[in-house]
Amino acid sequence: MTVENKPKVVALFSGGLDSSIAILLMLRQGIEVHAITFLTHFGCDIVDRSSCSGDPYPIAEQFGFSVKLHHLGEEFIKIVQNPKWGHGKNMNPCVDCRVLMLSHAKYVMDQIGAVAIATGEVLGQRPMSQTRDKLNLVEKETGLRGRLLRPLSARLLKPTIPEQEGIIDRSRLENISGRSRKRQMELADEFGLEHYPTPAAGCLLTDVNYSRRLSDLLAHSQAIDFNMLNLLRVGRHFRFSPRTKIVIGRKEDENEKIEKYRCPEDVLFEARETGSPITLLQGEKTDEAIVFAARATARYCDDKGLDKVSVTISFPERTEVLEVRPISDEEIEHIRL
Ligand code: SF4
Repeated sequence: MTVENKPKVVALFSGGLDSSIAILLMLRQGIEVHAITFLTHFGCDIVDRSSCSGDPYPIAEQFGFSVKLHHLGEEFIKIVQNPKWGHGKNMNPCVDCRVLMLSHAKYVMDQIGAVAIATGEVLGQRPMSQTRDKLNLVEKETGLRGRLLRPLSARLLKPTIPEQEGIIDRSRLENISGRSRKRQMELADEFGLEHYPTPAAGCLLTDVNYSRRLSDLLAHSQAIDFNMLNLLRVGRHFRFSPRTKIVIGRKEDENEKIEKYRCPEDVLFEARETGSPITLLQGEKTDEAIVFAARATARYCDDKGLDKVSVTISFPERTEVLEVRPISDEEIEHIRL
């Protein structure tokens, strides 16, 4: 078969084990793979090594297929705020997420004349998005009937059109179901796939602590921007009042990120002449909130054992210094997010 008449598939690719194996099963049949990977700001993507994803580019280079990055941005934020099929256990809108990613993939499929979209989904692996009903629902919603191929579970599912047409050999696809990754790991060995991330539960939206912070943000902010989302991953967060939030860095790199993600109208706090967190106050700047944030800064600085700590407060238009008593755990812990 020449390169020109090789059948093509579009593949959803996180760089994780399952999506890598799905692609390798396609390549093994001589199918040309056009992978796409997504940036969502919620993990499970190339900027987040803590989730089930990994860097997709080395694997693509090793096995010789292309990868394109799609930024979901605002579209993704909308489905997190208001998912048609609801959230999972936490803030994860898995069904909406799959539909959105597949609609991007469908566009690419139509553009390049691919015969199917391949995903790393495994029947029964994830309770919200990978039941048989949910796999069928996603296929119907995306208008991909007969064109959505799950190579890892294909022999347990209805044959897709390219399988029926003999373009894709069904007998060389897998019949994996459930949560065990044993068969995927055997296949990884067979294919010579060495570096893949340990499978994890999902993106940040499946994390209970992150979801609590995100719910708080959605409940208290009219418009959400990427800086606000990025800030949720950094430091200690406190909801001082419906209109005021306080974020306190835990280490040097978090202090740097807090300064990077601040808005021009935010207020910054730092204890003077000692090791100090950077504290950010967003929203309404009442006197009470300012004193509270200054005392919270003192609570987490290296001089927290002193009766009084001097804290520099940087307002957008001026700087002040306030002498404050470090706040106690009882005064602050009940508002921690
Ligand atoms: S865990 Fe759910 S919401 Fe998060 S990326 Fe995966 S499918 Fe999407």
